[in-house]
Amino acid sequence: EERIVILGAGQGGFQAAASLREAGFTGPLTLVGDEPGLPYQRPPLSKAYMKGDAGIEQIELRPAAFYADHRIELIEARATGIDRATRHLMLEGGARLGYAHLILATGARNRPLPVPGRELSGVYYLRTRADADALKATLACARHVVVIGAGFIGLEFAAVARALGHEVTVIEAAARPLGRAVSPEMSAFFAQAHRDMGTTLLLGAGVVGLEGVDGRVTGVKTTDGVVHKADFVLVGIGVVPNVELAAEAGLEVANGIVVDDHLATRDPAISALGDAVAYPSRFAGGQDEPAMVRLESVQNAVDQARCLAARLTGKSAPFEAVPWFWSDQGDLKLQMVGLAGPTDSAVLRGDPATRRFSVFRFRDGVLTAIESVNRPADHMLGRRLLAGTPVLTPEQAGDESFELKSLLG
Ligand code: FAD
Repeated sequence: EERIVILGAGQGGFQAAASLREAGFTGPLTLVGDEPGLPYQRPPLSKAYMKGDAGIEQIELRPAAFYADHRIELIEARATGIDRATRHLMLEGGARLGYAHLILATGARNRPLPVPGRELSGVYYLRTRADADALKATLACARHVVVIGAGFIGLEFAAVARALGHEVTVIEAAARPLGRAVSPEMSAFFAQAHRDMGTTLLLGAGVVGLEGVDGRVTGVKTTDGVVHKADFVLVGIGVVPNVELAAEAGLEVANGIVVDDHLATRDPAISALGDAVAYPSRFAGGQDEPAMVRLESVQNAVDQARCLAARLTGKSAPFEAVPWFWSDQGDLKLQMVGLAGPTDSAVLRGDPATRRFSVFRFRDGVLTAIESVNRPADHMLGRRLLAGTPVLTPEQAGDESFELKSLLG
C-alpha cells in the first residue's frame, strides 16, 4: 500500500494533503493531528478572530466535505513515535499507522515564560484556536492587559486589545520591537505607532516574575523592580519547533528537523516541512553558500508543501521559493519579502509620516529584503525581483522618481 501519512494537521500538513491530490496522487492519504476540529489558519487568531470579526467557519482552511471529496482521511490523535524500521507512525492509545512515505508537519509550540509565577491563572499564550478561545473569554473582563514580548504576535494582540478598549502595556527585553525580523528603522516606526495607539511600550525591560493574589495574576515585575499592574497577561516570547518525535526516531535535529533542499530527511521515506524544519536557503546565506534557516510563516509552510507534493508525484525540484510574510497591526499592514541579515543597510522609500513607505535592505550593494507598510506594490515587486538576481541599486531604491517596475523589463 502506497499510503502517505502526514503528521500535523496545521497550515503545512493541510496544504501537503491538498497539493498531493491536486498533483494527481491517488493512493491512500491520511492527515493526523492532535487539535480538535478541522484544520484552520492561525494568522486570524491574533487578528480578525481575536477581534471578533471572523468566526470559526471563516478561519477553517476547507469545509468538512473537502476532505471526503478528496479522500483525505483525518485522524484526531497525538502521535507518540515513529518506527522507521517497519514504517509505522505510533498513535496515542496504541494504534499503528503504516506509511510508504511520512511527512512531518509538526509545527512549533509556544516558548514558556521561564520566571516564577508563570502558573498563575490569567496568564495566556496564543498558538491554537483553543488558546484563542480561552483567552477571548477572560479578555472581555480585563482592564489592565500586559503583553510580554514585542514580536509579531504580541504586537498584533496589543493592537486588538487597544481597539477593544483595554489598557495595554507591552514589555520587551530587547531594545526595540520586532528586533529579530525587521530593520531598526521599521522597529522605530512600529514603536511609535503602538504608542500612538495608546499602548505603553517598555523596551529593554526584562520580566523577572509574575505576582498574584489567590492564584490569579495581578502584576508583572520587571528587572528595575517595578510591578506593572495586570489582570491579564499574554506571553508572546517566541516558539520552539516540535522536533522530539524526529529526534527520538534518530533523525537529525538542529533548531528544527534538518532537511535538504528537497525537504528530505536522511530517511528516504520521511520528509518534513513548515515551522518545524531547518533547511538550506540561498536567502539566508547567499547564492553560493546557502545557510540553514527555520522560518515561521504561512508562505513557507504552503510553498514547502507544494514543493514536496510535486516531488512525491514525480516532479522533483529544489525548494527555492522567495520567503515573504505579513503582519496586521491596527490599520498598518506590514509586508516583508526576502531575508535580511542584522547588519544589512536600510534605504527608505517614501515617508514614514505618511504611514505608507518601504525599507529596502542591502548587503554589499545587493538587495536582500523589502519591508513595506501599506505599500503592497513594493512588496509584490520585491517578490519578483528577489526570485531572480536583483539588479536594483540602493540609489534607485531611495529615489521615488525611479520606476521600480522598469527593472522587470
Ligand atoms: P502548524 O500550523 O503549527 O501545525 C502543526 C500541527 O501539528 C499543530 O496542529 C500541532 O498540534 C500538530 N502536532 C504537532 N505534534 C503533533 C503530534 N505529535 N501528534 C499530532 N499532532 C501534532 N504567519 C504568517 O505568514 N503571517 C501571519 O500573519 C501569521 N500570524 C500568526 C498568528 C498567530 C497567532 C500564530 C500562532 C501564527 C501566525 N503565523 C503567521 C505563523 C503561521 O501560522 C505558521 O507559520 C504556520 O501555521 C506553520 O504551519 P505548520 O504546518 O508548519 O505548523
